[in-house]
Amino acid sequence: AKAEAEAAARAKSLFLANMSHEIRTPLNAVIGMTTLLLDTPMSEDQRDFAHTIRGSGETLLEIINDILDYSKADVGKLEIEQQAFDLRRCVEDSLDLVAPRALEKHLNLAYLIEDGTPEALVGDATRIRQILVNLLSNAVKFTHQGEVFVSVDSEPVDEHTCRIRFSVQDSGIGISAEHLPRLFQSFTQVDASTTRKYGGTGLGLAISRRLCELMGGGLQAESTPGIGSTFTASFRARFVPITA
Ligand code: ADP
Repeated sequence: AKAEAEAAARAKSLFLANMSHEIRTPLNAVIGMTTLLLDTPMSEDQRDFAHTIRGSGETLLEIINDILDYSKADVGKLEIEQQAFDLRRCVEDSLDLVAPRALEKHLNLAYLIEDGTPEALVGDATRIRQILVNLLSNAVKFTHQGEVFVSVDSEPVDEHTCRIRFSVQDSGIGISAEHLPRLFQSFTQVDASTTRKYGGTGLGLAISRRLCELMGGGLQAESTPGIGSTFTASFRARFVPITA
């Protein structure tokens, strides 16, 4: 019975993964064509409508991407690439994505890469960016004043590998001790009213933790309600030795 239940769960995830892919293709066309449409002469009203179409399309795409990742992770199909990348670039690219929203909310956004942290690494930059962007968007989303700060450091594992750790610290609404352990479960949000006020699916952290684990690390949270939260993600990466 257990084997049958597991097989059924796998089949369901596989179905979801395939469906998500099929849904993404036409949705990308909707978003792409709306972008082209916005470059043509239009009345104010029409432009407004087209903006709404594009915005909703992008939101829907994010949700579908999350579901796709989540179901892939469930059937063990999330793959981690191994390619040379630059850590600082990866952090800066992620910050760039959330900077406009932080600016709108008058939040300070800053980062520090500790001295001695290797920056030429081999790993999956796209996935690392995905984790960082997820943590950063949450931090910006749940912070109404103050700052969001990213710090990055490392510790050696062996002569070719190190563990990179980044923490994303915010001065936001925080999370109660009661909710903290449940955050990483899929489809879990702190409460239903939060969902209405802030949106989201409750999948981001579950996926990010999975990705960290696949890269030989983990993801933890600490928080004090009303003061802020710190999410610490780690992963292993090979580094490119500096040749003198
Ligand atoms: P989503 O953001 O799509 O709801 P996540 O898995 O990323 O999904 O987050 C789950 C929940 O954890 C959020 O809905 C929110 O309640 C809580 N949360 C995450 N990050 C923070 C944060 N920095 N400050 C306060 N609450 C947070």
